[in-house]
Amino acid sequence: MTGNAARVQAIQQITNRTPIKCAPPIKLDEVWATNVFDLSKMQASLPKSVFKSIKNTITSGEKLDPSIADAVATAMRDWAMAKGALYYAHVFYPMTNLTAEKHDGFVSVQGDGKVISEFSGKVLVQGEPDGSSFPNGGIRDTFEARGYTAWDVTSPAYIMETENGSTLCIPTVFVSWTGEALDKKVPLLRSIDAMNKAAQKVLRLLGHTEIARVNSSCGAEQEYFLVDSNFAHQRPDLLLAGRTLFGKSPAKGQEFDDHYFGAIPERVQIFMQDVEAQLYKLGIPAKTRHNEVAPGQFEIAPVFEAANVASDHQQMIMTTLKTTAKKHGFMCLLHEKPFAGINGSGKHVNWSVGNATQGNLLDPGDSPHDNAQFLVFCGAVIRGVHKFGPLMRAVIANASNDHRLGANEAPPAIMSVYLGSQLEEVFEQIKNGSVSESKKRGVMDLGVAVLPELTKDAGDRNRTSPFAFTGNRFEFRAVGSSQSVSGPLVALNTILADSLEWIGDRLESELAKGLEVSEAILTVLKEIMNDHSAVIFGGNGYSEEWHREAVEERGLRNLPTTADALPVLKEPEVEALFEKLQVLTPVELESRFEVYAEQYINSIEVEAKLVMNMAKTMVYPAAVEYLSKLSGTISALVGLGISLDKKNAETVANLTNALMVATENLSAAFAKDDFASTEEHMHYCANTICPLMNDVRSYADQLESELPDSFWPLPTYQEMLFIK
Ligand code: ADP
Ligand code: MG
Repeated sequence: MTGNAARVQAIQQITNRTPIKCAPPIKLDEVWATNVFDLSKMQASLPKSVFKSIKNTITSGEKLDPSIADAVATAMRDWAMAKGALYYAHVFYPMTNLTAEKHDGFVSVQGDGKVISEFSGKVLVQGEPDGSSFPNGGIRDTFEARGYTAWDVTSPAYIMETENGSTLCIPTVFVSWTGEALDKKVPLLRSIDAMNKAAQKVLRLLGHTEIARVNSSCGAEQEYFLVDSNFAHQRPDLLLAGRTLFGKSPAKGQEFDDHYFGAIPERVQIFMQDVEAQLYKLGIPAKTRHNEVAPGQFEIAPVFEAANVASDHQQMIMTTLKTTAKKHGFMCLLHEKPFAGINGSGKHVNWSVGNATQGNLLDPGDSPHDNAQFLVFCGAVIRGVHKFGPLMRAVIANASNDHRLGANEAPPAIMSVYLGSQLEEVFEQIKNGSVSESKKRGVMDLGVAVLPELTKDAGDRNRTSPFAFTGNRFEFRAVGSSQSVSGPLVALNTILADSLEWIGDRLESELAKGLEVSEAILTVLKEIMNDHSAVIFGGNGYSEEWHREAVEERGLRNLPTTADALPVLKEPEVEALFEKLQVLTPVELESRFEVYAEQYINSIEVEAKLVMNMAKTMVYPAAVEYLSKLSGTISALVGLGISLDKKNAETVANLTNALMVATENLSAAFAKDDFASTEEHMHYCANTICPLMNDVRSYADQLESELPDSFWPLPTYQEMLFIK
């Protein structure tokens, strides 16, 4: 098909399609978690003592008793087979942000030719997927040993249903034969342990005697775009890079804000209901759905859960969105910036820490005593973000998120903390040594405990902050839509652990001097404020002024690209942080840097190849075809004694030449392959390749404005964003 024929056909197909119907589940309790081998199903199927033992491991992090594995494996297999599963998969999360699974059958053929189903405790506990092609950043060579998966008891097994059958999925960690982390889950589990340990000590010093295990919680708001697959399949850039590399802005974009929270288009709502029905069966508490700011953009948010489970569930949500979109004739774009000039997609990570005995430790609470505790944990976060802001920037760095951070729609690439005016004032007063009446609510209780009484929900919002306190949690808003939440959670738990360790030691020495607990707290908080208050910022994070002030006056670092941010992982303070808290060894950290850097370089190189290819094979031919037609007409008219202004032909010819020159420049730059270091290669991508890609794009987009629609081969922004 030439010209716009394929596009026209796509529009016809969309217009005439019969909608897929999907009724929402009628009774929630009848579908809820039916595909999850959760505690209640374990209780029903396991001997009492086995159940007690495994429950202990799940809830209090006690070591798994290997002797119960066989009993659990048998119960799990029977349950799964009764639900139609013939295969099981050890599911793991390699460093690629993706979900990996290797399937094995329960089938076992006996000596007499009969078949039985087999699934032992040994197989449940440990798998050997090889997986030698997963990036490991040099930790293991392919010729050397394998990668192992080990059962993560704290995240429940589940059944993944597809049209082609069901599979029992077992969440696992993925490690090398020497026990080094090769995945996103191991560091997360370790970071929770480190944070728990440090929090226990602080809580004890605050006077608690009964202290349950402290865990972190996460509720992630996922933004995504839906594009009809008839269009998406005609865009090599969407297929291979997940974002459009060409495309002029439509006459109407998001300026009316008429999409945000608007009525959800019927076809999309049916898709959402289908997604939610599947998530409910998997025990994933999908709760919120709405239209987002950009046309064609939507959001799904589950209720928060324990960080490890939330992190697995987040991966399952992304998978479900993608597979279900296909079924409904959509392509689901999780890329951070699928369309230039239109809002990108983030994944706000709502994060808190707490336990069963003290509750949410980031909740101000009702009594001055609770508030003292809250202020200590909040102070710990402030200190952590100030000390390790660049690390927080590094863990959300990838090629696609670079299009958001620092652009005028998403938080800047400078990490700061937004507290809200009331809380900011309280900390300011602590810093100045006097705690008086709070601005808004006027409830400061000085009598009881020297510490202020706060009211709940200090909660004004600041959409321009990368990291904001929102009443009883922090919202890490700079995380990208395609990213695993695990990296951000690891960073947050670890910097909190570091701060809590420090606070624990400081409190201990102040108490040893004979200070009251409340006085000791004030002293330590004051010290934190003196050293770290530069990170607190309540103003407009998008403004030029903030960028200047943050860097020049406050000494905060601005790391605009992944090439700037990733090397933070190799800085001595960061290495020491992870090593001291036993979250990642220097070797593991270094391997992460290598893997993420390679992914960054690969992403940019794939895009560069696509840009050259699409410019040469799609845009240029369309322009030339039009020029040929136009020039034919102009000369034919001359024969008739009529003259047609040549300006248009000149404009198109000039743009076409410029397009090819820009493409050649990109091609020449792309040929370079002698880089002294990974860092140099990354910077070359960010500072040379990306601008050259943008040059090519600018000419292609201008040509899109000049060429007749009937000559233009690529589905347009208008079509992709507005036709559903
Ligand atoms: P908004 O868009 O206003 O930020 P949403 O309701 O869309 O809020 O999403 C808020 C997310 O924060 C939800 O996933 C919610 O479950 C989660 N959340 C609420 N309380 C906590 C908490 N204490 N810890 C972690 N996450 C929380
Ligand atoms: Mg929201």
